[in-house]
Amino acid sequence: MASAFTEDAKSTPYWWEVCPPDPSTGDALPDEADVVVVGAGYTGLHAALQCARAGRSTVVLEAEAPGWGCSTRNGGQVSTSIKPPFAKLAGRYGEDTATAILREGQASLDFTEAFISEERLDADFQVVGRFHGAHLAKTYDRLARDIAAPIPAFETGAYMVPRGEMVTELGTEAYFGGAVFPRHASLDPGKYHRALLGLCRAAGVHVVPHCQVTELERRAPGFQLRSEMGKIRAGKVILATNGYSGPLSPWHRRRVIPIGSYVIATEPIPVDLMDSLFPTDRILSDTRKLVYYYRPSPDRTRVLFGGRVSLRETDTRRTGPILLAELVRLFPGLAGTRISHSWSGTVAYSFDALMHCGEDAGLFYAMGYCGSGVGMAGYLGMKIGRRAAGLDDAETAFDAIPNPTRPFYSGTPWFLAPSVLAYRLRDRFGW
Ligand SMILES: Cc1cc2nc3c(=O)[nH]c(=O)nc-3n(C[C@H](O)[C@H](O)[C@H](O)COP(=O)(O)OP(=O)(O)OC[C@H]3O[C@@H](n4cnc5c(N)ncnc54)[C@H](O)[C@@H]3O)c2cc1C
Repeated sequence: MASAFTEDAKSTPYWWEVCPPDPSTGDALPDEADVVVVGAGYTGLHAALQCARAGRSTVVLEAEAPGWGCSTRNGGQVSTSIKPPFAKLAGRYGEDTATAILREGQASLDFTEAFISEERLDADFQVVGRFHGAHLAKTYDRLARDIAAPIPAFETGAYMVPRGEMVTELGTEAYFGGAVFPRHASLDPGKYHRALLGLCRAAGVHVVPHCQVTELERRAPGFQLRSEMGKIRAGKVILATNGYSGPLSPWHRRRVIPIGSYVIATEPIPVDLMDSLFPTDRILSDTRKLVYYYRPSPDRTRVLFGGRVSLRETDTRRTGPILLAELVRLFPGLAGTRISHSWSGTVAYSFDALMHCGEDAGLFYAMGYCGSGVGMAGYLGMKIGRRAAGLDDAETAFDAIPNPTRPFYSGTPWFLAPSVLAYRLRDRFGW
């Protein structure tokens, strides 16, 4: 039987072809710093950049190479990131807080675009818009209702595309139409991370890779951290570990649900085929709870296709063919195309489907982006960094809302397989 993989297929992210993990051995571990950041993804680096530019001595400790986590593994889709709809948020927190939370989503998108433009980062950032396909007739109707009931104070410009008019959006018969969100954007996650790392280093941030923090202890007036490379004292600490949050801080670990997300890149496909299946550069997703997210690669040679396709965490040699089969079901013209890259990363869900940030006496954090953190992680990292540095404009709408956990949950999601099964059922019947 023909293999789904090319002979030289890799289990590393496609993005690492252009931006492999930073090979630098990094800086030596200093004895102390005003601010120590744990984790060198978008959250940690944006936080560190604010602190360093405000004149604080700033050290980032990263267990692997900088960016090794989600920040160089993601799909490069930049959205407003807030999953719960307005009505649900208003029911929980009241209309004012619900509005403020949705505003943060818009702000994160605007911030990402402005930051990349003002800092002149080479990140292939493009406002391409998102096509969100309805996988069932009833999810099309639901989407149409949501879009027709816009929230006061928001101008998203979103519009519906009926099934019969989809040919300009996507070469598939598999959807019942969909919605376009014209302000959503795409970028190359590896390039974005590398450019951000360069800005941090230029601002004087000490980045120490391959330095896992193993203990965090309050020692007035600040903290002592123990790491693989020795101890460091910190005035303030920022936890930016997201889906990779381990035993370092049990309070934070109890509030994030680590979930694997899996992606494939296809081998290059003919230009004509790409243009007929993907007539635009839009980012793409669908109305499933277990969403498929995909897009053409920035150079339009390959299709990048991601989702959650296994009950339990598993090997990317196993998930690759399952993702490819789903891609071919959506686009039969891709039959016979093989996988060149199949990889995964660990996203952080939360119990209320919202991201969170906050402070407890000098210990800051931002995490729980629920798989939508390309824009939001940088934005909340920036906010939390400003707060740690004592700068203004550091408040967020998330400051006022509780960050829930569940009894007996300590960070290992034993309920994942039954939850995925339940979501599969909901997706099948559109519940
Ligand atoms: C496959 C995949 C696809 C995705 N696609 C999208 C998308 O298209 N759009 C979108 O908006 N979002 C997407 N996301 C989510 C997005 O990538 C993340 O929300 C975002 O990158 C989170 O950034 P972060 O800096 O908080 O965490 P990360 O980038 O995960 O960084 C956390 C870092 O902390 C380090 N760390 C953990 N513990 C320690 C310790 N004790 N000591 C030192 N270091 C430690 C880890 O090694 C890791 O590098 C995707 C995620 C994945 C995995």
